[in-house]
Amino acid sequence: MTENIHETIIIGSGPAGYTAAIYAARANMNPIIITGMEPGGQLTTTTDVENYPGYPEGVMGPEMMMDFQKQAERFGTKVIMDMVTEVDFANEKGGNHTITTMNGEVFKTKSIIISTGASAKYLGLDDEKKYMGSGVSACATCDGFFYKNRPVVVVGAGDTAAEEATYLSKICSKVYLLVRRDEFRASNIMEERVKNTPNIEILFHHELEGMSGEKVVEKAHIFNNITHEKSELEVDGVFIAIGHKPNTDLFVGKLDMDETGYLITEPKSTKTKVPGVFAAGDVQDNIYRQAVTAAGTGCMAALDAERYVAEL
Ligand code: NDP
Repeated sequence: MTENIHETIIIGSGPAGYTAAIYAARANMNPIIITGMEPGGQLTTTTDVENYPGYPEGVMGPEMMMDFQKQAERFGTKVIMDMVTEVDFANEKGGNHTITTMNGEVFKTKSIIISTGASAKYLGLDDEKKYMGSGVSACATCDGFFYKNRPVVVVGAGDTAAEEATYLSKICSKVYLLVRRDEFRASNIMEERVKNTPNIEILFHHELEGMSGEKVVEKAHIFNNITHEKSELEVDGVFIAIGHKPNTDLFVGKLDMDETGYLITEPKSTKTKVPGVFAAGDVQDNIYRQAVTAAGTGCMAALDAERYVAEL
C-alpha cells in the first residue's frame, strides 16, 4: 500500500491557520487543518470584533471563526478536531515531516504551516472566568472601545501593560494601572509615556484579588501587598496585561525561538529554519497580534508552502 503523503498540513485554527487553509485549498494543495484544543483560537474567547475589515456592523468572535472555517471548507479543506502531540521534521529539503495527534493519527506531509497562536496569561482568579467578555479582557485594541468614557483597570507593568494603558487612556475616562512591585518592567520610554498621561493613575504595590458586579464588572477589588490594606475601584473594565505565552512547546529544540518562545521566521517570509516548515500568526508575532495581521501572515505561509512544494 502506498503511503498517503499530504502536500500541506496546518496546525492551529485561528485566523492565520484558516487563511492559510483558504489559500492552500484554492491552490489545490488539499490541506488538512488540525484545530487544536481551542478550535477558532483566541477570538472564540472575545465577544464583538469590530476591527476586522469586511464586517461593517461588527461580528461576534466565535461567529467570525465559523465563517473562516466555512470559507476554508468550501474549497475542500479537511478540518480535523484533534490536537498535535508530536512533530518529527525531515532534516533536508524534500523530506517528509511526520505529525502525530492525540487521537493516535499519524500524518506524513511535504510541508507544515504552524499557526498555533499564543495565549494571553491570566492571574488565575475565578472572577476572571466569571466575567470573561463581561468586563474582563486581555486585549485593549479588541475591547477598549466598549469602555468609552468609562473607568478601567489595567494589571501589569511590562511593555504590554504600558501600551494597553496608553491606548485605553485615549478612550476611557480613567485608567488605573496596578503594578505589583514599586517599579516597571516596561522600557523607559513606555514607562515615561504612562507617567506623563494625566488620566492614568499608577498604583504601585497593588494587586487584583477579584471583581464584583451583578452581570458585568462594576468593581475591582484590590489590595496593597505591603500594608495588606484592601480597597475597591469603581470600574467597568479589567484588562489583564501580564504577557502572552506562544504555543510552541511542541517545537522546543526543533525550531529557532526567541527568549520568550516565539518562533523565528526569516525576514519578509514565513520560513523557519527547517525546509518546508512555515509559521504564521501570533506564534511568530509578539508585536502586532491582531486577527488581520495573523490572517495576512497565514496567506503568506500558504504561498510560501505552495512554492516550496512546487519546487520539489
Ligand atoms: P513581560 O513579561 O515583559 O511583563 C509582564 C508584566 O506583568 C511584568 O511587569 C510582571 O510584573 C507583570 N506580572 C506578571 N504576573 C503578574 C501577576 N500575577 N500579577 C501582577 N503582575 C504580574 O510581558 P509583556 O507582554 O509586557 O512583554 C513581553 C515582551 O514583548 C517583552 O519583551 C516586551 O518588551 C515585548 N513587547 C514590546 C512591545 C513594543 O515594543 N511595542 C509591546 C508589547 C510587548 P513584574 O515586573 O513584577 O515581574
